[in-house]
Amino acid sequence: MDSDLRVVVVGGGPAGITAALQARELGAQVTLLEAGHVGDSTLNRGPAPVRTLARAARLARDWSSWAEFGLAGPPPVPDLPAMIANSERVARHAREKRDVPGYLRQQGINLAEDLGPVRFTDPVTLTARAGNSSAGNSSAGVSRASGHADRTWTADRIILAVGGHAARLPIPGAELALTYEDLPGLETLPQRVAVIGGADTGCQLASIFDDLGAAVTVYEAGATIIPAADADVSAELCRAFRARDMTVATDTIVTALSQQHDGIRLDYRAGESAGSSVADAVFMAVGWPASTATLDLRAAGVAVTGPAVTVDDCLRTSVPHIFAAGDVTGHGMLVQTARMEGRIAAKNAVLGTADVISYDVIPSGSFTDPEYGRVGLTEAAAAASTEVVVGIARYSELLRPVADGRTDGFCKLIADRRSHRLVGAHVLGEYSAETVQTVAACMAAGLTVEHVAELQFAFPTFTEGVSIAAQMICRDIGIGRFPQVWSYLGAEGGKGLSSHGSDNPARRGRAQAP
Ligand SMILES: Cc1cc2nc3c(=O)[nH]c(=O)nc-3n(C[C@H](O)[C@H](O)[C@H](O)COP(=O)(O)OP(=O)(O)OC[C@H]3O[C@@H](n4cnc5c(N)ncnc54)[C@H](O)[C@@H]3O)c2cc1C
Repeated sequence: MDSDLRVVVVGGGPAGITAALQARELGAQVTLLEAGHVGDSTLNRGPAPVRTLARAARLARDWSSWAEFGLAGPPPVPDLPAMIANSERVARHAREKRDVPGYLRQQGINLAEDLGPVRFTDPVTLTARAGNSSAGNSSAGVSRASGHADRTWTADRIILAVGGHAARLPIPGAELALTYEDLPGLETLPQRVAVIGGADTGCQLASIFDDLGAAVTVYEAGATIIPAADADVSAELCRAFRARDMTVATDTIVTALSQQHDGIRLDYRAGESAGSSVADAVFMAVGWPASTATLDLRAAGVAVTGPAVTVDDCLRTSVPHIFAAGDVTGHGMLVQTARMEGRIAAKNAVLGTADVISYDVIPSGSFTDPEYGRVGLTEAAAAASTEVVVGIARYSELLRPVADGRTDGFCKLIADRRSHRLVGAHVLGEYSAETVQTVAACMAAGLTVEHVAELQFAFPTFTEGVSIAAQMICRDIGIGRFPQVWSYLGAEGGKGLSSHGSDNPARRGRAQAP
C-alpha cells in the first residue's frame, strides 16, 4: 500500500535504480534524479564496453591457437572503430530492450533525467538546473519552475547514489593521458600503449590492447598487480602477462608525461633509478573517487571520508534521514555491490529498519586474459583471523582446460579448518567469473567443504575444479574419504604457485599418492 513518505534518490546507476525501485515497491513516493541518463554509466562507460572489447580481443587472440586445433588461416585484423561500433550496438540493444526510463515511470517513479549535477541547499532540499528537459512527472514534494530555471525537490528520505569517476594522478602532463572513458573516442589502434595502474581496470585495458596486438607496458606503483586480489592470482596473472611479452613494471612510479614528436613520453622512477619511455597512448587507471564534489554535502551536514560518503553498517550517513549506496560509499566498486546497497538503503530508509549490510559473499570477475574471479576473503585475510586450509585444483590437471588448450589457471578454495566453512575462492583462467559464482552459491547456502566435495559437477568443465579443490581440503582436514581421481595425479595442492606461503603444508590441501 502506498504511503506519503517522499524518497528522493540522486543518481541513476545500478545503485540508484535499485534503490528507487525498492523504495517504490515498499510504497514510498519516489523521485529519481539523474544528471545525465539512467543506466548510462554501465552501458556506455564501464562494464558493457569493456566486456564487449574484451570479447573482440579474445577472438583475435584465439587465432594464435588455431594451428593446435588443426585450423589454418590468416590472422584477424583488428578494426577498432568497428569494435567500438559493436560495443555501442550492445549498449543500444540493452537500452532499447530494457527501456529503463519507461520501466521506472511505469512503476510510478517520478524520473527526472538530463538535469546536470543535483546538489543540496539544506538537509531536506535538493536543487538542479534543468538541462534539455526530459522532466519528470509532478508529484508530492516536487516543485517545478518552467523552462531551464532551477528546480527543487524536498524529501523525507534521501538516498545518494552518485557513483564515482576516473581519477588522474597529480603529475605534470596528466592531461595527456586517457582514461577508460576515452575508449569510444579512439579512431585507430595505438601500437604502443602504456597503462598507469595495475589494478582491475588497468589490467583489463592492458589485456585488451595486448590481445589486439599492441606493445603494452603496465606501470604499477605497488609490488604487485591487482593488489586487492589473492596473492596467487596476482602472481599468476603477472606471470601470464609477462609470458605473452607484456611488460609489467611493478614498484614503478610514473612521475611526468610530456608530448614528444613521436608520442607521449613517460618519466618514471623505480627505486633509486629513473627512466623514460614513449607510447602512442597512455591510459590512467589509478582509482575511482566518489563523485561528491558537486553535491554540496556541507549544506546537508553529510560527513565524508575523503571523497566518499561516510555510512554506517545500515548505509545511513551522518544525517539520519540521508542514506548512500553504490560507489559513492567507497565500498565495493561493483554493480552487484551497488545493487545490494541500493536495496538495503531503500529498505532501511522507507521501513525505518536497521538491516546490516554484509559483503561476505559477493562474487566478482575481471575480463583479462586469463580471466580471474573471486568471492570472500583472500588467503592472507582469512589466515589473519582463523586457521585456514587451502585446496588448489590446477587447470593443467583437468580434462576440459587441456581439451580447450587453456591450461593456464587454477581454482583455489579456502576453508576454515575448524568450522569447515568456505571463506573464500579465487579462480584464474577461462570462465572464472562463472566458476566463482558456483562457490558463491555454496557459501551463501552455508555449505561446508565436505558438502561441496560431494557435489556432482558436469564433466568435462572448468567448474570441476571446485569439487577437486574441495576434496583436497577434505583430505587435508581428514574428513570424508574420496577416491583418487585422475585429476589428482601429480597434483600437490597447488605446490608451485608463486605466492608466499604456497608451499606451506600446514595451510595447503594436498593430494595423496595414489
Ligand atoms: C571500466 C570499468 C569497468 C567495469 N567493469 C565492471 C564489471 O565488469 N563488473 C562490475 O560489477 N562492475 C564493473 N565496474 C564498476 C561498476 O560500473 C560500478 O561499480 C557501478 O556502476 C556503480 O554503480 P553506482 O550506481 O554506484 O554508480 P554509477 O553507475 O556511476 O551511477 C551513478 C549515476 O549518478 C549520476 N550522478 C553523478 N553525480 C550526480 C549528481 N550530482 N546529480 C545527479 N546525478 C549524478 C551519474 O550520471 C550516474 O548515472 C566497472 C567500472 C569501470 C569504470
